[in-house]
Amino acid sequence: MKARSITPNLIQLTRFRFVNAFLVREDDGFTLVDTTMGRAADALLEAASNAGGDIRRIALTHGHGDHVGALDALKERLGDAVEVLMPEPDARIHAGETVVQGKLPGSWPKLTTTPDVLLRGGERVGSLEVIPAPGHSPGHVAYLDPRDRALIAGDVYTTYGSAAVTNHFYLRFPFAAMATWDRSQDLDSARALRDLDPAVLAVGHGPSLTDPRRSMDRAIARAS
Ligand SMILES: [Zn+2]
Repeated sequence: MKARSITPNLIQLTRFRFVNAFLVREDDGFTLVDTTMGRAADALLEAASNAGGDIRRIALTHGHGDHVGALDALKERLGDAVEVLMPEPDARIHAGETVVQGKLPGSWPKLTTTPDVLLRGGERVGSLEVIPAPGHSPGHVAYLDPRDRALIAGDVYTTYGSAAVTNHFYLRFPFAAMATWDRSQDLDSARALRDLDPAVLAVGHGPSLTDPRRSMDRAIARAS
């Protein structure tokens, strides 16, 4: 697990060079945004302790397996000391409900952890504002840190080579588009996230971008 400081409040954790989770610094420790894959739990806990705090909250951008993969193992180790927050539609999918008609792409592994809080967008998680960003998955959310305007955009964008919206096939990272549920909602979400005017764009797959506005504009233009 590679740890990289992006802002004083944001640490990017990268596993296998292709999937990211994030530690967001708070007064009481860290919010962990996403968990990467299975078997990452010990490395995530070690990264938090190296950064000087405990994981207090686990906030998920969406329910796909490469984002919730270590959730159960983390919950097992942290127990009631951690609060788990997940977008409501994705939590219902994990609970076995039929949330959308038709095909639901992406991997939805079985979870034993039940979230403590279901998110719809508009909530606060520590310092973070929860931004609804559906499309890649039915309930996908992003997290904006108003302290430094860093945006954790999950899988609405990838940033390999340049920023790309996950509504269309992109050779540098085709898996994200293959897992996208509703391409037009995903593009609407990409536009809404750009309108937040973020100073940093952090994503599930790819490096974080500083001053990403032009890059996001170009990505939206290519995706439209
Ligand atoms: Zn995904």
